[in-house]
Amino acid sequence: MINVMQPTLGEEELRALEKTFASNWLGHGKRTAEFEALYAKHLGSTPDRVLSTNCCSEGLFSSMHLCGIEPGDEVILPTVSFIGAGNAVCAHGAKMVLCDVDRRTLNARACDIEKVITKKSKAILLLHYGGIPCEMDEIMKLADKYKLKVIEDCAAGVCSTYKGQALGTIGDMGMWSFDAMKILVCGDGAMLHFKDPEIREKAEKWLYFGLETKSGYENSVAQKWWEFDISCFGHRAIMNDITATIAIEQFKKLPMYMEKRKAVHDYYNENLKDVSWLDLPLPIAKDCTTSYYFYHIQVKNGKRDELAAYLRQNDVYTTYRYFPLHRVPGYGIRGGGNLFANADYAADNTLCIPIHQSLTQKDLESIVGKIKEFGKKYC
Ligand SMILES: *Cc1c(COP(=O)(O)O)cnc(C)c1O
Repeated sequence: MINVMQPTLGEEELRALEKTFASNWLGHGKRTAEFEALYAKHLGSTPDRVLSTNCCSEGLFSSMHLCGIEPGDEVILPTVSFIGAGNAVCAHGAKMVLCDVDRRTLNARACDIEKVITKKSKAILLLHYGGIPCEMDEIMKLADKYKLKVIEDCAAGVCSTYKGQALGTIGDMGMWSFDAMKILVCGDGAMLHFKDPEIREKAEKWLYFGLETKSGYENSVAQKWWEFDISCFGHRAIMNDITATIAIEQFKKLPMYMEKRKAVHDYYNENLKDVSWLDLPLPIAKDCTTSYYFYHIQVKNGKRDELAAYLRQNDVYTTYRYFPLHRVPGYGIRGGGNLFANADYAADNTLCIPIHQSLTQKDLESIVGKIKEFGKKYC
């Protein structure tokens, strides 16, 4: 089976882990700090704005508290969002207000967001679909006008930029995931970015019990170093030196990963462009970059599910991301009428086909061959 997503790990990660084992320190330590510093530089930001955590979902949940959302406040999110975003808003007691998306990019546009803004709106929790930037100038203008916080779910946008600026550093808070199915992977881990260093300080405490001092060592000047105080009822959500060690090695490979993913993307563009029953991803704006996390095609003749089944029978695994939140029964959203027409179209016709660093030329030929074969037989 050709996987739709797949991590790339090698000897470098193993060798680096040996050193970390030998250091006899597996917890949150030097390696974690090193990774945070590397990542801050990668973002064109500074370490006082960057903080690691154990997963991007924790970032989503914590964003509500850190951005000052109160129970009852309205938070706007595109209905095509990661399930953790919806849960974060609802678990906080805020009101989840969904908006539609662009039917081709699956990103929310300023016009989609503006339609659902009310006096109670406090924040926009944006998703950059597959690491492709949303129209941030327009969205930030809207946020300014209505005094809304902007939280960017950049989970898959590890190398994405918008007009020269790293995606995730434009809004008040941004986050990237390093879970097993992302591009830079370390098992589980994530990075957070805060526009305001004060919020980053608040976050550091929030993600470690609200402790005022962190460890016995750091507290060694105190006579009784086991005593402490807390400033809030915080979580415990940190990266450790094992996952950070893997992440540092993965980080070094990002340029190579981007090159490979772009080659896959370009191959599909070139070899699927004449398939009349398919829409391919739209070209990305000239002044933006993507991380090539998804290659999403749209089947124009209503046969998306048949295509997915056909490919699966032929050892090509595909999927659709992200199932729209207005269709998740557990959220109890009824109707919606025409409000989500584009998201409904996208959810019924979009298919994410394999894209990762380990795809071979033979894999690519086989995937394209099977798609065309399906067309000849059924379209
Ligand atoms: C994977 C993902 C997350 C969650 O990341 P974890 O690190 O697995 O918690 C959040 N948002 C999006 C868009 C994702 O793809």
